[in-house]
Amino acid sequence: MARPFLPPMELVTRRASASYERGQLTNGVLVRQLEEEAAAYLRVGHVVAVASCTSGLMLAIRALRPRGPVVLPSFTFSASAHAVAWNGLAVAFCDVDLATCQIDAIDAGRRVSDLAAGAVLATHVFGAPCKAERVERLARAAGIPVIFDAAHAFGATRVRRRVGGFGSAEVFSMSPTKLLVAGEGGLVATDDAGLAEEVRLGRDYGNPGDYNTRFVGLNARLSEFHAATALESLRMLDEHLERRRAAAGRYAEEIRGIDGVEAQVVDPADTSTYKDFTVRIDPVLYGLTRDELVAALAAEGVETRCYFDPPVHRQQAYAGAPRCVLPLTDRLAAEVISLPMFGALETKVAARVAALVAELPAAMRAWGPAVTTA
Ligand SMILES: *Cc1c(COP(=O)(O)O)cnc(C)c1O
Repeated sequence: MARPFLPPMELVTRRASASYERGQLTNGVLVRQLEEEAAAYLRVGHVVAVASCTSGLMLAIRALRPRGPVVLPSFTFSASAHAVAWNGLAVAFCDVDLATCQIDAIDAGRRVSDLAAGAVLATHVFGAPCKAERVERLARAAGIPVIFDAAHAFGATRVRRRVGGFGSAEVFSMSPTKLLVAGEGGLVATDDAGLAEEVRLGRDYGNPGDYNTRFVGLNARLSEFHAATALESLRMLDEHLERRRAAAGRYAEEIRGIDGVEAQVVDPADTSTYKDFTVRIDPVLYGLTRDELVAALAAEGVETRCYFDPPVHRQQAYAGAPRCVLPLTDRLAAEVISLPMFGALETKVAARVAALVAELPAAMRAWGPAVTTA
């Protein structure tokens, strides 16, 4: 389903060895270099490296001090909402657009005014940018900040502008299935020097160096080993993106003709990282439900995922949150399937998987009982 696209071990070791020999194992020169190179790549003023995207989101939200609930889509990874909840803030889920799987800015705007929200958090889903400028506009109209969960989107562009510079901050993940890989790690990108400074302090317990902590921070530092891996991964990023885009292009081509199967719509002016290649299954048109397709593909040895099902508002952790009605989120969660996608995925394998998706409904009609009990 997913495999990390890893730099050669000897390059990572070579890069890490100077820090290792100096006895500098965390938050050292390699972390600094990663921050500088990532800021140059993303074309933003500041990048602060942290231990994970989750801790980066927690610290960036803290720095913005929202004075009300945070509006965010439920169709995202749980960590987006957790980062809000760990700040003691209420989560207010909004709906999504079915075709793009992205935040519905109109629904978000309505909830922002109804709830006197304190901030908006939007995710660039599956590596495709959301309509970031629309989300910025609605937040500006309400006089509140917006932050982007860009975990999937290192290397994505929105109308030729690199993801990373939208909103008050954008936060990337460097965990193994993401685009830029450190093993574990996150990057907070911002043009706000004050916010960058608070995240820097916050990743170090809130301690500026005199052990008189200014606020309740975390240990969210990045180690030198992780920074070395990320620096080598950054060298390979363009090749990695090109391979994923080639596989996604092949998927899209093969899937176009299948009734009831629609790939996530990416605005033609944008580029996705294809962190995931996700399609929506209309059970009536396609002839199988999403769950039946998942089982049939598994029987053929094809591993898939159903991101993001259950959506966050349906997860046990949020059973106590105010009830919300999100019809499109519920429908999308029931219909999505993410097909195998990784840097080393050969286009002919993508074509074979797509061919299986095309053939399975007829095959199951012909062999129904035998296949379903197999
Ligand atoms: C992976 C992911 C995260 C969490 O990233 P970590 O680096 O594992 O903390 C947050 N949001 C989204 C959308 C993700 O996919």
